[in-house]
Amino acid sequence: MRARIHAVEPRSRANGPGARFVVWLQGCTLGCAGCFNPTTHDAAGGTERELGDVIAELGAAAARGIEGLSLSGGEPLQQPAAALVLLAAARGLGLSTLAFSGYAIEEIRGLAGGPEVLAQLDVLIDGRYRSPERLATGLRGSANQRIQLLTARYTLADVEATPVAEIRIGRGGEMVLTGVDPVKIRAR
Ligand code: SF4
Repeated sequence: MRARIHAVEPRSRANGPGARFVVWLQGCTLGCAGCFNPTTHDAAGGTERELGDVIAELGAAAARGIEGLSLSGGEPLQQPAAALVLLAAARGLGLSTLAFSGYAIEEIRGLAGGPEVLAQLDVLIDGRYRSPERLATGLRGSANQRIQLLTARYTLADVEATPVAEIRIGRGGEMVLTGVDPVKIRAR
């Protein structure tokens, strides 16, 4: 199966408990004012990738000791089949699973593929980003968003202990800035 992917990060500590493989799925039509990641909106953007290749990278990361998979976006529930394949692969590797969604859990239950995705998740951060309620801590971008513990794998404290920002410098000197309150680098 192929999917449109905005980015993949093999090891992040700012996208859920512990070290996690993160996949940002491309495409979101929810249109939250003040969204901090507008380049993920265009469903035709990003890169079309074979999920088998992404899962191979996930397996390599698991062999190096990561704890889980986090799905972000874009909106993961707008590519539910891809989300399901990735989450099931993570579960098969014994990894924990987490997703960020702009949909509320009540909406996800009514989406095509939504209940199946929920059944593969340990943690869901749900709800639209509302800029007047900006929070940017404990994995929640705004105060209306909720941390849904869908299994007993983590406690609320585990999830809320996630750092708000992270800078990773790659071997080639490239910087990856992630987290619910990413650091902003200004050109001089
Ligand atoms: S759901 Fe997420 S990606 Fe989509 S507009 Fe809202 S904040 Fe942005």
